Formats: sequence, C-alpha cells, structure tokens
Amino acid sequence: MCKFWYVKSYECSLVDIAPTISKILNIPMVPPDGTYLKEVVEYAKEHECQKAVIIIVDSLGCSLYRYYIEIMPYLRGIAESGILLRCRSTADYTTPAIASIFTGYYPEEHHIYATDDIYVERAKDASNPKIKSILEWAQEAGRKSSVVIESRGADSFLGRVIETFGVPDSKDIIEYDKKISDAAAHALENNPDVLAVHLRAIDRYAHRATTWKEMSYAVTTIDENIGQIFSNAEKGTLFFICGDHPIHAAEKWLKSASFYEIESYKNRLVPLIIGSS
Ligand SMILES: [Zn+2]
Repeated sequence: MCKFWYVKSYECSLVDIAPTISKILNIPMVPPDGTYLKEVVEYAKEHECQKAVIIIVDSLGCSLYRYYIEIMPYLRGIAESGILLRCRSTADYTTPAIASIFTGYYPEEHHIYATDDIYVERAKDASNPKIKSILEWAQEAGRKSSVVIESRGADSFLGRVIETFGVPDSKDIIEYDKKISDAAAHALENNPDVLAVHLRAIDRYAHRATTWKEMSYAVTTIDENIGQIFSNAEKGTLFFICGDHPIHAAEKWLKSASFYEIESYKNRLVPLIIGSS
C-alpha cells in the first residue's frame, strides 16, 4: 500500500454521524450532506442498540489518539471491542465542527461558525433543516434528547430539546470536565434516546500546556470521564466518541512529528470510536 495514499485515507466524515444515528434509531430527518455508515448500522443491529450517546472530545486528532492510547484504558477498551474509524473533520475549530456533527451538514451549508450564528440562522428561517440537530429531529419524532455542554452553548438548545445541562466555563478545565461528566451520568438516569456531551480538557491544555507530560494529565482525566459516562449508560447504548478537529497550537505540538502525524493533521483526521455498553 502506498504510504501517501494511506495517510490521506479516511473512512468517514463528521457529517456522517447524524444520519447514522437517524438510520439506527429510526429518526426521520431531511437527508443531509453526510451518509449513514453501513458498518456502524450493522454493529448497532448486532448489539441491539436502541439509544445513542455522542461524546465529543475537543482537539482529539488521530495522531494524539495514537500517541496516547496506551494511557487511555477506557477508550482503548471501547475501541478494541467496537470500531475505530479515521474520520475527516469539517473545520479546524470547535463550533462549525460540532455543528456538522449535530446537523450532518458541512459548514458552508449550516453557516454556524460561532455560537450566536445559530440565532442568526434561525431568525432567517426557523425551519431550515440544515441547522436542525439530530437531537431536535429525535425530539420531533417523539424521542427524548439531552445535551451536556458549556452553558452558552446549552442556552442555544433551550426549548429545542427537553433536557439541557449547562456547565459554566471555568479556569479549571479539569474540574469543568468533571462537572460535565457528572451531569452526563445524571442525564443518563432519565434514559434519553440521544445524549450529546462535550469534553474540553485536551483543547485547553493544547493552548496552555508546554510539555507532553502536562498534556498526558488532561488525556488521563478525559479517559476517566469517558469511563464514567460509559459505565452509567444502560445496556444497548451505542457510543460515538470522536474528536471535533485535530489539536490547536500545532506549531508547538508538531515540532518533532512524523510524516504520518503531519499529514493526518493537514487532512484534519480525527478518530471516531464506536462502541456499545
Ligand atoms: Zn474544538
């Protein structure tokens, strides 16, 4: 196999997550840019999955995943008994990438580049399917959705999904993620059909930390939070765990990177881990 082809290759895009959930949980949605992932639909059938949890790990790119997987026992366990896909991100920063995960559209279609854009786009056309998240499609189909994210982002969901758990932004990102993880465990007690969670420690450390050792601390706490959320989900819950884009401050972290790592960064490859509880 040609190495160049290999590093550029990817099996899916972030826009495929929403239509895959739509297909598996039988939630009608206007077909978006993405297409459902056959392999994941088959896996969900085999494991009789009736619910879905999306965990977005901010700034987890493919290279970082490969570098740290040995110190992420929970995530590794899920990947080893599930599916690991190379997934192409749709943007190099958070808001448009997460909007692609939730809507199934590329940023040039959903136009959500900053949190307030959702209000602008809704004011133009509240029924525009390109800004409707899979959580909202689920609600419309009579299913229950829940979202656990930063307070301002959560506000943008108010009235659109039944349960929103907002955690105020904090200087202590480890404590912030812990609160997110506790809120997700709490949200799971109410048996949502679709739950979305956003963990941010790696992204904050990418900006502020200077050593791999510091970064490994953030990675370890993320893994523990994933473990906590996973263990609180009822049997038959399908997990989509992914990065939103590769690491920020790349000039700092890619100093001694390999050819693979640089290509993977340039192609905005993030891991998508599929597993079931
Ligand atoms: Zn991000």
